[in-house]
Amino acid sequence: MSTVINVFKDEALEATAREAIRLDESQALLEKFVTLVRESGTPDEEVAGRYIVDRLKALGVPVTLHTPELYISNPVRAELGISIAGAGGASGLGTADGATLSTRTLHARPPAMGRSTGDAAVEGEICYVPSKYAGGTSSLFDLPDAARGGGVDDPVRGRIVLTEGFSMPASVGAFERRGAIAQIFIHPGKNVHEGICTSIWGAPTADSLGRKPAVPVVCINHADGEALIADVQRGAVRASVKTWLREGWMRCLLPVAEIRGQDDVDEFLLVHGHYDSWYEGIGDNATGDAALLELARVLWGLRGQLKRTVRIAWWPGHSTGRYAGSTWYADTFADELDEHCIAQLDIDSPGCADATAYEEVMWMAEADAVCRSSIQDALGLPSTRVRPLRAGDYSFNQIGPTGLYMLLSNIPGEERQRRGYYAVGGCGGNIAWHTVDDLMPVADLEILRRDLMVYLTTIVRIVNAPLHPFDYAAAVDEMHAAVAKYQEAAAGEIDLGPVIHDLARLAADIGAWRVAMDARVSRAPGDHELRRGTNAALRRIARLLVPLNYAKGERFDHDPALKFGTLPRLEPAASLPQAPAEMKPFAKVGLQREVNKVRATLRAVARELKR
Ligand SMILES: [Zn+2]
Repeated sequence: MSTVINVFKDEALEATAREAIRLDESQALLEKFVTLVRESGTPDEEVAGRYIVDRLKALGVPVTLHTPELYISNPVRAELGISIAGAGGASGLGTADGATLSTRTLHARPPAMGRSTGDAAVEGEICYVPSKYAGGTSSLFDLPDAARGGGVDDPVRGRIVLTEGFSMPASVGAFERRGAIAQIFIHPGKNVHEGICTSIWGAPTADSLGRKPAVPVVCINHADGEALIADVQRGAVRASVKTWLREGWMRCLLPVAEIRGQDDVDEFLLVHGHYDSWYEGIGDNATGDAALLELARVLWGLRGQLKRTVRIAWWPGHSTGRYAGSTWYADTFADELDEHCIAQLDIDSPGCADATAYEEVMWMAEADAVCRSSIQDALGLPSTRVRPLRAGDYSFNQIGPTGLYMLLSNIPGEERQRRGYYAVGGCGGNIAWHTVDDLMPVADLEILRRDLMVYLTTIVRIVNAPLHPFDYAAAVDEMHAAVAKYQEAAAGEIDLGPVIHDLARLAADIGAWRVAMDARVSRAPGDHELRRGTNAALRRIARLLVPLNYAKGERFDHDPALKFGTLPRLEPAASLPQAPAEMKPFAKVGLQREVNKVRATLRAVARELKR
């Protein structure tokens, strides 16, 4: 069992911060941003970046403007032509072999980072692979069953695949491996939602560039998709796919405000969100940008009472560069983030109309007490935690600060169901997400005020707590429970017992150490060295445990944007019984190496407790 962190609360300061919220800056930002289509690398995005810098300067908040070159892919347009053999009717066209063709063109949009064909159409027969739409936001990144398959007689090979769902990287990658020459995704509603289909996180490297989708991908709406499925089920249907995307290195603006703390000035909380958007993007993420600006204003006013530093960053390149801005920042300021970042707090799509529920809020297990108590104390509301997805601007997991929030308030699930909404990845659950409809009615400033109250309470608690308010025993408990499940699923194929034993002991050790350190620090409030040294140890523990809990790859790299389980290095153990017999010995060798890495990491954490 983990310890319960006594969350530090300065109720007077928290109340002062919440009462300081005014929404005029927020409203002005929304009114400005609704005039801007903030695609990365475009003049509109630059206007938005300059606006943020100008407002910060007018408010007196110190700001640094970075100008990185980011790798961006902006969808321009697509053409999807359909031709049906053997159909009659007025639109019928004669063909060389005498068969009748009916042809039509469908409205289609290419996701970012798909292949740009230009005029060189990809033509072929459509192969329909039925799939299900995501059941909820948390399953948007799942690999659908339809994407599993393969082999020489796979009907997808050499054809244009047609399937339901968003063009998520797991599906797109799987269909490409199955040999699809182009891909058509049917969206669940009236509007096509914009998106990005590469699994490459941030700018590609020479090694990862090969994972960029090599085939054209387009998305169509539900009605067109249903009609096309019906055609395919009646007989052979051919498609011609053309896509145009503007791709390359683009200079973008990346503003970072800094409000320096009074005591431990080097230690900083990174608060961040993206300011690029699809279309005018009011709910995703102009409301978040307005929140960041208001946080900067309020925290600047309270700077004399903040013990540590808050950095507030607005990212470009989120939508069309797969989190390119936050990834650039992680790469460029890796050393500072590694040494001094207390935690990272992501702000995406707050303040949306009717979003009154905190039913699926992301935070890492160790932040449970601080996040849950902040929502409770700011608003008197309960909340339900969701383990953070490998999504949003969580570009820091492989450096290792604890992460909290991403999306925050949502339209209650029951209400979304009543409205017939399907799962989307922002806008408080409003299906205007990533469409032309994401305009002013999607936002609600009074809901934004509530979300700001949560953010401010959380921020004050984190930056003013004597010791960082994160319970790393809870993170170890989470991994312990996951590895116990992997062990059970492995059904004796491999023994994860030693890891389970290590995790159980480490959780107990961290808990005891934390209780002792809290007591020592509270007995000696003037002992700056003790406090700073203990916090540095907490950050080093996070640098070991966060990558272990959330990443497969090395520290300072960026894993693909795919769904991972808890402690993903050991996740393959769970599917060992299903592995082909001849592959099992190879899989076990790999898993043994992962076990060794995991145990070495846990020993390193244990050593931190003894320093
Ligand atoms: Zn967003």
